[in-house]
Amino acid sequence: MKIAVAGTGYVGLVTGVCLAEHGHSVICVDIDEKKVSLMEAGISPIYEPGLEELMGKNMDKLSFTTKYIEAYKDADVIFIGVGTPEKQDGSANLSYVYGVAEQIARSIEKDCVVVVKSTVPIGTNDKIEDMIKYNLVHDVNVYVASNPEFLAQGTAVRDTLFPSRIVIGVEDPYAGVVLKEVYKEFDAPLMVTNRKSAEMIKYASNDFLALKISFINEIANLCEIIGADIEDVALGMGFDKRIGDRFLNAGIGYGGSCFPKDTKALHWLASFHDNELKTVKAAIDVNENQKLKLIKKSRNYFDSFNGLNVAVLGLTFKPGTDDLREAPSLVNIPIMLEDGANVKAWDPVGVENFKKKYPGEITYCNTIEDTIKDADVCFIFTEWDEVKDFDLSKYSELMKNPIILDGRNCYDLASVKKENMIYDSIGRETVNSLEVSMV
Ligand code: NAD
Repeated sequence: MKIAVAGTGYVGLVTGVCLAEHGHSVICVDIDEKKVSLMEAGISPIYEPGLEELMGKNMDKLSFTTKYIEAYKDADVIFIGVGTPEKQDGSANLSYVYGVAEQIARSIEKDCVVVVKSTVPIGTNDKIEDMIKYNLVHDVNVYVASNPEFLAQGTAVRDTLFPSRIVIGVEDPYAGVVLKEVYKEFDAPLMVTNRKSAEMIKYASNDFLALKISFINEIANLCEIIGADIEDVALGMGFDKRIGDRFLNAGIGYGGSCFPKDTKALHWLASFHDNELKTVKAAIDVNENQKLKLIKKSRNYFDSFNGLNVAVLGLTFKPGTDDLREAPSLVNIPIMLEDGANVKAWDPVGVENFKKKYPGEITYCNTIEDTIKDADVCFIFTEWDEVKDFDLSKYSELMKNPIILDGRNCYDLASVKKENMIYDSIGRETVNSLEVSMV
């Protein structure tokens, strides 16, 4: 079976590589020539644990190109994995997906199944099929199937090789048969439904997870006020199998390329049909506020950032990825800079991407030690292992004022209490062993 994949981002490239690992011959298409040259040389243009190694192992079954006609014309199956970013009004920008649909229509010379992996609003698969059929150049049959992707960045390779489930949405049974063949080597529950239900499964899943995070963040905020401890609360809740113990980590809010846009897109779609999704709206609102939680906390210690040395640990929206999309660092650091802070930042893989947005205003450091040296305050935005494993005594040793504002609850309070520092985290007691009075 000849498979083509449109888009070589976190979804497209990981899909292509994992399909090759399971024996398929895969041609990956991207419009970005730089990315294609890197991939041809066996280099992954994105950071994702294990991806480059798996790519290297399967280079005999993988090829990369910008020439979409060559890739699509005789493909049996074409996966669409291009971006669906958020538009100004919160709806999904489908121009990339529709762009690929037109390219497919102009290229294919034999019957093929077009598989939509991109997260698209309910009803989009129907439009894609209409668009392809309307623009076809050759007299061939096209079947469009929805096959939403559930991978998480940071564990994308594992999530794709061993998926929690494979959801296939089809209107014609033939497309279902072909996709079952594509996935026959994958050991995962596979369900077949209609296209709209498959599209909805993706949004409902992401929005539910976003809601779970916003819920625990609200509970954390209340814990701070009433003196409860969110870590214990989450632990106690998680024993209940109906609730589950995942996605109960309180913090400064979710980011990334999916939850923020997918909550807004579904809310927009519902509003379009005069139907408000009140719980999803609440998840969005809570998250927007939560991202500023540490800035608000910082006002307890100083009125302005002007002239302060600010250390930032973690720039990416979560560990295990170089992706900055909707990362809390992008909301918080501009506020500090505008206020006159001298910002030093550290991140194991996110610095190059951050430099594209802030090339000169920030000092980027190679070590946590250099970042916190002489700092007046340290913000933790990403729970990288290097941060979690960092020797706590070094904060008071190296910082001018050891005030740590931890947005990811990286340290247990018993260990913090042995150190000389002010440690303010999310949903937990503030530790102040410096005996410095707070404003
Ligand atoms: P991405 O932005 O990382 O990658 C998209 C790629 O598509 C880019 O390399 C871009 O150059 C390329 N592209 C654009 N137009 C093209 C065209 N006409 N032909 C070929 N390539 C083209 O996107 P992503 O994060 O991989 O997300 C892709 C889709 O998958 C989105 O709809 C997203 O919501 C969904 N999704 C993402 C994740 C995730 O964790 N990133 C998880 C599940 C689902």
